[in-house]
Amino acid sequence: MQDTVLLEILNLREKINKANYEYHTLDNPTISDYEYDKAMSRLISLEEEYPNYKDLSSPTNKIGGVILENFTKVIHNPPMMSLGDVFNEYELLDFFVKASKDASNFTLVSELKIDGLAINLEYINGVLFRASTRGDGNIGEDVTENVKTIKSIPLKLNKPLDIKVRGEVFMPIKSFIKLNIQRKENNEQLFANPRNAASGTIRQLDSKIVSSRNLDSFIYTLVSPSTYNIHTQSSSLEFMRGLGFKVNNYYKHITSINELAPLITYYDNLREEVPYDTDGIVIKINEFNLYDEIGYTAKAPKWAVAYKFPPKTKKTKLLDIIFQVGRTGAITPVAVFESVVVSGSKISRASLHNEDYIKDKDIRIGDIVEVHKAAEIIPEILKVVLEQRNINSVPFEMIKNCPICNSLLTRDASKADYFCTNLECPGRNINSIIHYASRKALDIDTLGEKAIEEFHNIGILNRLSDIYTLKDKKDIILELEGFGDKKIDNIISSIEKSKTISLDRFIYGLGIKNIGEKYSKILVRHYKTITELFQVDEEVLVNINDFGVERASSVYQYFHNDENIKEIKLLLGYGVNPVSANENVTKNDFFVNKKIVITGSFTIFTRDELTSLLESYGAKVSSSVSSQTSYLIVGENPGSKLDKALLLGIKIIKEDELKGYLTNG
Ligand code: NAD
Repeated sequence: MQDTVLLEILNLREKINKANYEYHTLDNPTISDYEYDKAMSRLISLEEEYPNYKDLSSPTNKIGGVILENFTKVIHNPPMMSLGDVFNEYELLDFFVKASKDASNFTLVSELKIDGLAINLEYINGVLFRASTRGDGNIGEDVTENVKTIKSIPLKLNKPLDIKVRGEVFMPIKSFIKLNIQRKENNEQLFANPRNAASGTIRQLDSKIVSSRNLDSFIYTLVSPSTYNIHTQSSSLEFMRGLGFKVNNYYKHITSINELAPLITYYDNLREEVPYDTDGIVIKINEFNLYDEIGYTAKAPKWAVAYKFPPKTKKTKLLDIIFQVGRTGAITPVAVFESVVVSGSKISRASLHNEDYIKDKDIRIGDIVEVHKAAEIIPEILKVVLEQRNINSVPFEMIKNCPICNSLLTRDASKADYFCTNLECPGRNINSIIHYASRKALDIDTLGEKAIEEFHNIGILNRLSDIYTLKDKKDIILELEGFGDKKIDNIISSIEKSKTISLDRFIYGLGIKNIGEKYSKILVRHYKTITELFQVDEEVLVNINDFGVERASSVYQYFHNDENIKEIKLLLGYGVNPVSANENVTKNDFFVNKKIVITGSFTIFTRDELTSLLESYGAKVSSSVSSQTSYLIVGENPGSKLDKALLLGIKIIKEDELKGYLTNG
């Protein structure tokens, strides 16, 4: 029995430690907050029930954040603590009862729990002197320059006080959605939620990026309130508002236990209305003089608690699973469900990714499913409501043939994806033509999806190169409804105009698996013409910064497929002229083939810009210092990489020296 408990405890600690790393360090959680909170709550109760298994290094004793090496460290006094969680009305009442044992005659204050990241602000003589993140609670990161770009954080207070306050920096939902849409268009990883986006933003090395992302703040903690003759949480909120801080309006002063239950409904409704994410309610004892009496656990005060909202999901019925054929031939199963409104808009479809995903979740047609919007924009089925499953339901079976051309599908050996390998498959071809003509590729704006489909249906547009023969098929097109002379001439003229195109957009337009806009740009730093890519070497590709094995293999396979090469040659033959912006960049001898590591922040470049520049000069930029490193380029606030490089005797180049090398070669 004890062994099973210990095993469960160890498994929970492992799961939580992994989730903490992904959430706090990578800003990229892989489990929901709800699942995390449930795992943590189970671990806390097991450790309480079996105290002999308590362990100081358990995540129940630690505040999850980490401190990044690029920032100066700030020691927090007093520490910035977390909050204990409750998940229902009874647990909330229990908190009240426990607090009553340690103190009598108190009132409470309830506040919205803003889902951002905690910030510590220090003012000297009323002027913002330093801003820092919570970090691990005892030590945070100095992010003053970034915080100065947040408009709601005053640089100067209404009174010349020495004061320390704490609150939350967050990203409003609208800005978050805008940012994720932009990232999606650029094929960049999406932020999972506004909190991770805010946290990733405040720890940017370039404060211009922070400034563009529209962060906001609410302040809710006054440190050392007695200095200012403030004795309650509610009066501290008004005091801070008076100094110029933005204080959330929805706090309530609660004087009776009977007010707690209606409070949950009040805030739960409010959650849908406010333009920022909240993950619960914070309930705090109002009277500061009771705080020491009631005390603290290792990571949270006992005089406050967080009531966590259940996740924002909706239940709906799965009507069908259909299959889409992508431009690479990948078959994607898509769920079609009764439409529901989630996070402000109607959804009725969600990608089911692949066979394994559906089988793992055992999703079946006719099931009642819970849906939400991942990253606030992508509809997703979270789980099946098994209790409501029809007994006649049948497990999902993957299709064996392409839904469009009926060819036998093949399964990718290393992954769960199925592919239609028929290069002539209409489903596949239509999508690749749509992609090739799209705005970020060749931008043939008059050749929209509908026209492509119609031309395809009458057999005049089956592959990319057919685009350039449309001008000879004017008579056939004229027979189609809605296509007059003028419209066709417009299509032909934008096709002609698109022929001279930058190499990266052309590569992007080819629709190579795993190669979006960003990686097309990276490729052109290394290959100046499309024909150079015909000889591409897989090993060289793997070594391109950030490329990875899978991406290298897709590029290699694409350019080692005779059909693809034939098609590209046809495109070039029709006059498509991909030009490289890098053609005029001469290799710089000082950097060519050198292994370079960058640390710290730079005044004239972002780190990405510097990386691109060095790579265009023929350098290989990597992330860690080793004896193989040729130079370490050092900006402001360098991290431990500098110590390591000094130890290994590696050449150090400071930002001001760098300019000389960049121009002289
Ligand atoms: P928390 O977010 O649950 O609560 C503490 C924080 O609440 C405070 O530090 C403060 O920043 C914030 N807060 C917001 N409004 C407040 C207010 N009005 N008054 C006081 N504090 C307020 O705890 P945490 O330690 O910051 O983070 C743990 C939480 O993060 C977990 O409960 C989970 O939801 C999430 N998490 C998720 C994963 C994952 O993989 N999904 C992993 C780690 C953590």
